[in-house]
Amino acid sequence: MKYAKLFNVKQTPQSEPIPNSGQMPNSAGGYVWTIDPWKQLDRFLILGTEGGTYYVDERKLTVDGATNVLACIGRDGPRVVSRIAEISEAGRAPKNDPAIFALALCTASPNEATRKAAFEALPSVCRTGTHLFQFAAVVKELRGWGRGIRSAVGGWYNGKEPNDLAYQAIKYRQREGWSHRDLLRLTHPKPRTEHHRVLFKWIVDNELTGNSSRLAAIEELAATTDARRAIELIREFDLPREAIPTKLLRSTEVWAALFERMPMTALIRNLATLTKRRVLTPYGEATRRTIEALSDGDRIRRARVHPIAIAIARAQYSAGRGLLGKAKWRPVPRITDALDEAFGLAFANVEPTGKRFLLAIDVSGSMSGSPAGASGLMASSAAAAMSLVTLRTEHTVTPMAFADSFRALDLTPKTSLAEAIARTEGLSFGATDCALPMLWATEMAIPVDVFVIYTDNETWFGEIHPAQALARYREKMGIAAKLVVMAMTPTEFTIADPSDPGMLDVVGFDASSPQALSEFALM
Ligand code: CA
Repeated sequence: MKYAKLFNVKQTPQSEPIPNSGQMPNSAGGYVWTIDPWKQLDRFLILGTEGGTYYVDERKLTVDGATNVLACIGRDGPRVVSRIAEISEAGRAPKNDPAIFALALCTASPNEATRKAAFEALPSVCRTGTHLFQFAAVVKELRGWGRGIRSAVGGWYNGKEPNDLAYQAIKYRQREGWSHRDLLRLTHPKPRTEHHRVLFKWIVDNELTGNSSRLAAIEELAATTDARRAIELIREFDLPREAIPTKLLRSTEVWAALFERMPMTALIRNLATLTKRRVLTPYGEATRRTIEALSDGDRIRRARVHPIAIAIARAQYSAGRGLLGKAKWRPVPRITDALDEAFGLAFANVEPTGKRFLLAIDVSGSMSGSPAGASGLMASSAAAAMSLVTLRTEHTVTPMAFADSFRALDLTPKTSLAEAIARTEGLSFGATDCALPMLWATEMAIPVDVFVIYTDNETWFGEIHPAQALARYREKMGIAAKLVVMAMTPTEFTIADPSDPGMLDVVGFDASSPQALSEFALM
């Protein structure tokens, strides 16, 4: 009898589907499950499709993602809108672009309730001038300017408080081929207040027709060559870098004045310039304040700074030179360290669960691509960075790396972000077998409550499916172990069996993923 050798529902090669499981082929020639359209929407919103994946080019990935957004809109448009707003407002994605794009798709829906919800959500998804210009660019390509959309964009201007609107008008003058003048001309909203009227007139006709000391200050600042006067104006009227004439941007004192009121995101973006301009020096007061700001978790989370954005900022800052151009600076080591700490703080707060975790990072060839929103980081390195959060929170954590073989990964709670990234970058790559973490733990009889696998779900190489390997582990060890899949690419694939409540799909770059992980571990 060799039937059982040839057909065994407990062990199926990954190149074939588990019988009657509903598995589908992935892009690598293996069989996996697909996630439901709402989960795929989340992956699209959080990961984006920029740069594509190792297997799928950016265009096809975007078409697939957008097609799925449309399918979700067809099912329940208002639900799509509220999901977009929720993820965007909470700062869960490294980039807001997919949310803006998806919102624009909603505004083109034939369903009136969907369009209405999308128009209403505009100010919460498009919070800055840049977001609004991005939205305008998509709208132009996608649907054109009907009355509803013009009134929504006009409403964006009336909805902002005059001070904020003046700030937006100076800070984000034009992007994506659009300016505030263009949009105000196109939508011509009726000014809600006298302040709005003066501002609109100033933006559209460059003419100051009423009493606005702030606008007058902006005009004076644009024309001045006197650094001392510029500093007075910056301090009195709270003016941003964008309002300063280029010539004065070489002055240390001007940058020091800007630093005093710099919001968190601008601070993180300008660390190199502040160092180059000698506002940030190894022992200076500004450095102390910067470190204090970067150690303030509440402030970081309120500012919606995404952890991956901090990881990228840290890599760029510590390099001491810009990616483009000739900019060079001498990084202050304490600031580099503070960015490392800020990275961990940017995730939602989680309490240790006390569970035993095995963190397995897929370092196969397909994880060497740079996923969207993580420019410069490989997917495997971004995964290593993400895994640090669990390492620093939980007490019993075994970090491992795998491709077609399995090895210990030298990460501890004290490992810095840069070290974690460097250690995964240096690993050799091979074919993918996502069952290895469970097979290894079974063989070594390692007690594990939660397996966490950071992968693109393009597994194909193994003699047994990951879900089957998990079942075998549970049986042999007598532990109801769970499996969490941290998806690092926005495909529809997953190695998690959707019919097994002990398996969960999480979007890898989601700033709230540590929270999802610990809630699931405790369930
Ligand atoms: Ca792979």
